[in-house]
Amino acid sequence: MNSQTSEPITLDGEVSRRGLMLVLSSPSGAGKTTLSRLLLAEDPDLIMSVSVTTRPKRPGEQAGVDYEFVDRTTFDLMVNRRQLLEHAKVFDHYYGTPVDPVEAALAAGRDVLFDIDWQGAQQLKQAKDADLASIFILPPSTKELEQRLKSRAQDSDEVVARRMSEASGEISRWSDYDYIIVNHDVEDALEQVRAILTAERLKRARQTYLVNFVKRLQDGQ
Ligand code: 5GP
Repeated sequence: MNSQTSEPITLDGEVSRRGLMLVLSSPSGAGKTTLSRLLLAEDPDLIMSVSVTTRPKRPGEQAGVDYEFVDRTTFDLMVNRRQLLEHAKVFDHYYGTPVDPVEAALAAGRDVLFDIDWQGAQQLKQAKDADLASIFILPPSTKELEQRLKSRAQDSDEVVARRMSEASGEISRWSDYDYIIVNHDVEDALEQVRAILTAERLKRARQTYLVNFVKRLQDGQ
């Protein structure tokens, strides 16, 4: 769904294709947030899934843009009402993906980008495998990962140390993903994500418009 017009993308009045769900996961600090931001800025057909979280807002974060910040009671209510496509506890806090914006975007032929952890990716795979393409971003080295976490200056030393110790557990999930990118360089990694997105959009099953298009070709129209 286009955030400005909410009009579907159409060809000859038909929705040209079903949108896809592009999941980006990585240990914190491997660069997925930067990659997501760059990709969204250049691609009008891609929207970000804004998760709900019980985590406190970090400096610089915006409610409704980075996350919807909710309390635990609201989060539990959303789970009970089945308003979340997936949800998980990551580190000390709860995170989840609201279902309605995702379904609306897919039906309108827009793609949705998810910055979620391996637990969420696994749940999406079970629930919506046909719509999913998943990418795991690896850091080039442990040292580089630590440097990136420290340079964010958003988290305390204690949180950085904790995230470093969690990183190897997260990295062990790499083999559950469709695509793996080692983020040596942001521009190179971005190019690789673009290539994946292009190929995934061209998959036959996603090009819903083709059935009628080919029929017209066969009819000589
Ligand atoms: P952060 O607190 O640094 O923003 O995110 C911590 C972790 O939670 C990251 O690995 C991020 O990908 C993951 N995360 C963010 N939103 C969601 C969500 O809706 N579902 C799941 N499963 N993980 C999420």
